[in-house]
Amino acid sequence: MTFNSVLGILLIAHLGLIGVVIALRQKMPRYQGVLMVVGLATLAVATLLLPAELPISSLVITHVALIGFVGAMGALIIQDTTSRRPILNLQRVWVVLSIVWAVVFLGAVFGSNINFVGWRMWGDTAPSLGTWAGFGGLFIMGVLLISVCAYTFYIAPMPEVANRSAFWLTVANGALGASILLMSGTNILTDVGCLLSFASLGGAILACYRHRLIDLRETFLSSIQTIAFTGVAWSVLFGTLYLINRIEIEKSEAGTIGLGLLALLVALMLVPARQIIRWVFTTFVRTTAPNLALATAEYSRSVALAPNLEEVVNATNSTLCNVMNVKRSALILINTTWRKQDVVELIVLESGSTIDKPTRNGFLSKKSPIYQSLAVEKVPLGLFDMEYGMTYQSVVKEERVFFGSLAMQVFVPIVADGRLIGLLACGRKTDDSPYTRRDMELLGVIGQQVGNALRNARLIDDLYHLNNSMRELNKRLGNAKVELEKMDNIKTDFVTIASHELRTPLAQIRGYTDILDSLNDSDTLQKGQATQLVQNLRKSTERMEELIGAMLDVSQLDVNSMDLRFIRTTPEIVVRLAIEPLKEAFEQRNQTLQRIGLTGLPHIQADMQRLVQAFRNIIINAIKYTPDGGNIEVSARLETASKEGDKERILFAFKDNGIGIQAKDKELIFQKFYRGFDTQLHSTGLTKFLGAGPGLGLTIAKGIIEGHGGEIWVESPGQDMAKFPGSTIFVRIPILPTEGQRVALPYDEVPDDRRKTSPFPLFTPEQAGATTQTPAQSDEDKGTKTPTPDEDKGTKTPTPDEDEDE
Ligand code: ADP
Repeated sequence: MTFNSVLGILLIAHLGLIGVVIALRQKMPRYQGVLMVVGLATLAVATLLLPAELPISSLVITHVALIGFVGAMGALIIQDTTSRRPILNLQRVWVVLSIVWAVVFLGAVFGSNINFVGWRMWGDTAPSLGTWAGFGGLFIMGVLLISVCAYTFYIAPMPEVANRSAFWLTVANGALGASILLMSGTNILTDVGCLLSFASLGGAILACYRHRLIDLRETFLSSIQTIAFTGVAWSVLFGTLYLINRIEIEKSEAGTIGLGLLALLVALMLVPARQIIRWVFTTFVRTTAPNLALATAEYSRSVALAPNLEEVVNATNSTLCNVMNVKRSALILINTTWRKQDVVELIVLESGSTIDKPTRNGFLSKKSPIYQSLAVEKVPLGLFDMEYGMTYQSVVKEERVFFGSLAMQVFVPIVADGRLIGLLACGRKTDDSPYTRRDMELLGVIGQQVGNALRNARLIDDLYHLNNSMRELNKRLGNAKVELEKMDNIKTDFVTIASHELRTPLAQIRGYTDILDSLNDSDTLQKGQATQLVQNLRKSTERMEELIGAMLDVSQLDVNSMDLRFIRTTPEIVVRLAIEPLKEAFEQRNQTLQRIGLTGLPHIQADMQRLVQAFRNIIINAIKYTPDGGNIEVSARLETASKEGDKERILFAFKDNGIGIQAKDKELIFQKFYRGFDTQLHSTGLTKFLGAGPGLGLTIAKGIIEGHGGEIWVESPGQDMAKFPGSTIFVRIPILPTEGQRVALPYDEVPDDRRKTSPFPLFTPEQAGATTQTPAQSDEDKGTKTPTPDEDKGTKTPTPDEDEDE
């Protein structure tokens, strides 16, 4: 059996193998596989079987086969190295170029009629056209292929991808070198070329079959290291043997001992030599493999004291940076409380981020192969495996994008109590080398420790949170207590005030009915007396009605249900209607009222009844808390919009020279049932000096004004019963209601039920001055419109008996 026939058999066996591998590899387009198999088959047949006397030399067939082989191999290499970043349809260009090459070659061979090709005879004859075409094409295609491999190596996003490109670069060089040898036309070189093509094919098969290939850089460096050590050992041994050879050693006991000592010396020299070589390599060429014991010890130390999650993240990050030379790392927590059952939430925590503010978060399906590997098999997973591994081809795009966006290289499962609770993610290493198996083992151990640390931190965190929530609960309990006490006070006030306020008119009613009854019994009731008594009875009931009305208003405010109906009116009319029924009170108290700047103001949109009620309450207070003979001043002015988006507003000021208000009471007086004086000390009275009221007037006023989108506040230098510093109540309301507020209903459209049930009289649009006529006359002209009898029923309308004591 000749050497060639052995090669032939091997070649055919190889061929079958390639066919099977190519068929299994789904990613590879079928035509490439077919091309490769056909190329190799032709190559085998041409080299071995074809007789030399054929009209076309077997070398031509070999050349065609080689073109096919290089074409198919190149297409495979380009497809694999550019699979994640396609370069401009390069693969198609490559196939077209290969076909062009084959056509040009055949053209050159048959055109020139010299069908001897190859470079064997270059020394003797000038190369034929076919030879030029064959070698020229090989050169061009070779340069292209090597450039693609080098480029993809350069742009590789991960060290493993770069390693793959480097591997393909070696395979491409092998295939090209094999082609040059096979084209030689020399038997022995052809055979060497054949072997080299086997080797490159073997490489291609390996790369097709496995996504993780041997680390070329590491293999190269360790081979150099081994070669260096072998070289040193060889030199020492050779030197020693040479020395022994030169020196005649006696075959005596002493000679044997001398030899033994020499051997010992050599052996002793080899140990430091080996260490020196290793030191040189680890210091200058390769990074030290991390020390497992050291790393875990350091990590345990730093994480033992980490009281919370953030500290665990920081400690893990610094350990990985120090011990593993990792550029960055992250902790990814798995949140299983996510509402979908088969999806987990991933919370990414990097150094500096907290659980409330994670770096980012994403989702992972429990059915995903990534989750399966990490949670079920509990093995570390590289980003490279996710992208290139066959197992992970079914991973959905979102998950792929999420993991890709983290820019991490490996994900190590963190397991506690047999359950996946998180992932330890490590970025690139400082020297950009891929993660070795040893690295993965180390990461696995650190992952376990992180699991324990996390569990501890969570326990501490839980305790901390528990403590905090208890503190919070305690605080709330305290607040609730204060709130309850306040409510209780208000309730007591309410009962006192209500009984006090209601009892007076009730007692009056009772008294009048008794008188009526006894007069009636004794038949002494005169007509005039009866009229007077009935009048008094009516006033008392009206008083009760008012009080109940005020209480109802406040209860409406409590539930925010005050139904405002806006109509167009003027500030002047509102003030006039508020003052009208109080004329008698001013006279009784000998107080003067001044109105300033009310005329000429623009129209406003307001709920007439309510705004009149609010103003009346404010003015009644001014009367009440100002001594007899005092002066009350009501003024208003227009406030133009200061900035864009602001509305024009009217600022009202109700100024008196009464007792004034203490600074501490400025907010309180607007609260329900709040009164600046002891209820027991003062007698009830609507406009009597310091007459006690139910403490609801300003509360209602505030509610109404805020309902108009306005505000109310008080200014006063303080309270003084002798000097009367006075106080001013300010009211600011926008001239147009704020958006979303009710627009006015014409009088006729007001629902009947509102007319009946409202304790407040309704104004007709005409009364409200909603006509286009001049709304007001002079400030002094107070008698423009006499209010209807109903209008007098404002909350605090004075009655002749108002000052009656209990
Ligand atoms: P009431 O007048 O029924 O007591 P209000 O809600 O109208 O209730 O007023 C609350 C408190 O505000 C009054 O008890 C009084 O102490 C204080 N107050 C209101 N207006 C004035 C004012 N013009 N001058 C001094 N004190 C005032």
